[in-house]
Amino acid sequence: MPATSLLIHPEELDKTWLDQLGALRVGALGLHPVGGKRADETLAAMLDRFETPEYRALLEDAESRGIEVTCEMHALRYLLPEDALAAHPAWQRVNMAGQRTPDFNLCPSCGEALDFLSERAAALYARLPGRPRRAALWLDDSRDAFCHCEKCRGISPSDQQMIVLHALLRGIRSVQADARLAYLAYFETLPAPTRRDLKDGLYLEFAPYQRDLTRPLEDAACEANRRETAPLPALLDFFGTEDATALDYWFDNSLLSRYTKPPRKLEPHPDVVRADMAFYRRLGFQRVESFACYLGADYRALYGLPDLTSFRADE
Ligand SMILES: [Zn+2]
Repeated sequence: MPATSLLIHPEELDKTWLDQLGALRVGALGLHPVGGKRADETLAAMLDRFETPEYRALLEDAESRGIEVTCEMHALRYLLPEDALAAHPAWQRVNMAGQRTPDFNLCPSCGEALDFLSERAAALYARLPGRPRRAALWLDDSRDAFCHCEKCRGISPSDQQMIVLHALLRGIRSVQADARLAYLAYFETLPAPTRRDLKDGLYLEFAPYQRDLTRPLEDAACEANRRETAPLPALLDFFGTEDATALDYWFDNSLLSRYTKPPRKLEPHPDVVRADMAFYRRLGFQRVESFACYLGADYRALYGLPDLTSFRADE
């Protein structure tokens, strides 16, 4: 059976969540600061939270219950802040219109920018509680976020991501020699990369963001799910199944609430969850995760505990 994990916003973590994880026999918890344009601020706020005695007590409580805590987040803008990009125009990506712009990510053909990222990644990783063996520091959260400069034009978004991750991992491994880093496959990076020379230490994290949550991934009549799962054989062939992680959206109440509070009532599809979990297991995924954001204290005050029973590890 694959291991399971739920991803929540750091500010939503409380004892009730830890109780819920215990009742579901979910052995891991992913802290996921809010993504989007302000992902750098929410990541910084999470790091500050780690320094408070109240939050440390919660993390210790999780540890004493045998719950592994990881961090999974869009980290690029935090690692490469706006002012650094502004000061180094050559680090900026070139957009589809041919303009250098500091809006997303960077130019992966710029070695100086990669060295900067590498050092920043080491410093960030050193601040993560317990220095988890698996880290998920994702690039910016957007479509069309890669570089179209002369040097990068012929490099696919997937391979551009490989180049950046390789630089991040170099930094992280200066702190923790056996750390591994997630390759997030979603949007433009769903197609398998080709740079096998860069894949050591990277594991697959498959996130079918554009799937239909009301139908099983294997539903051949569902065009969205067919499209999202089509690259899986090539991705698994490239990365192998070691640490391979499926990150799904079954309980992502932030998505269902269109990223706006107050949260809506979560209406999960238990049959879909069970069918998809079996699907991932058959493919050899070692870990199955779901976002479960917007299900904290404010949600419970409105609707009570969310029904997550279809995610129980023994179901
Ligand atoms: Zn470039």
